[in-house]
Amino acid sequence: MLLIQTKDLVKAYGEGVQEVRALDGVSLDIEQGDFVAIIGASGSGKSTFMNMIGCLDQPSSGSYILGGQLVSSLTADELAMVRNQRIGFVFQQFNLVNRLPVITNVLIGLLYETPWWRSLFMQFSVEQRQKALEALSSVGIEQTAWQRAATLSGGQQQRAALARCLVQKARVILADEPIASLDPESSRKVMDLLQQMNRDNKCTVLVSLHQVEFAVRYCPRTIALNAGRVVY
Ligand code: ADP
Ligand code: MG
Repeated sequence: MLLIQTKDLVKAYGEGVQEVRALDGVSLDIEQGDFVAIIGASGSGKSTFMNMIGCLDQPSSGSYILGGQLVSSLTADELAMVRNQRIGFVFQQFNLVNRLPVITNVLIGLLYETPWWRSLFMQFSVEQRQKALEALSSVGIEQTAWQRAATLSGGQQQRAALARCLVQKARVILADEPIASLDPESSRKVMDLLQQMNRDNKCTVLVSLHQVEFAVRYCPRTIALNAGRVVY
């Protein structure tokens, strides 16, 4: 089933001669349950594309349909709702809140289903805590639950972000260069987890990478960007 459909997606920054087209007419179909690598050199538009798909930003022109809903015409509030309910992020700018314990960071994935007055005080039920611990256990870092997030290694942080996606029950997982600063062993673990979430939880996974070897090894489908256009 078709999950994501973009048509002539353009994202331009600046005006006139200064204009940069970070995305320059991207038309793509992605099926539910796909595991797709987005590859391309630095500056090719990978993060911009992930931001659009993640409903973090609207395109300058073109259309984006997610699960039958025309996302590119939604207001900022509606966009936030789609984002919170369906999309899990493993993004630099959505990384963990350093001063909070790892488990709290994972529980943040539940905020949209927690009454506002409880989320205000970060009060979570015993069941919710249990779910968070299970998620941490399934990404292999349950022993870090009560540490502050700042104390985790890069690979552990990515895994905590994946645990947050699990408790959120995200249907789409977007990972923007999740292994860019990791050693080969940690990279493999993070990619294995993405693969597992795709296979076992039937999540649709989009992962941007600049290591082509990892894309080839893990992802059945690869989309290559160059200067904001799909080249492969
Ligand atoms: P990648 O993630 O592949 O490295 P990006 O999507 O971050 O590429 O950037 C694509 C292009 O868009 C680059 O030329 C970048 O300089 C430009 N760009 C991205 N974000 C902005 C922004 N907020 N303002 C101006 N230019 C931007
Ligand atoms: Mg980027």
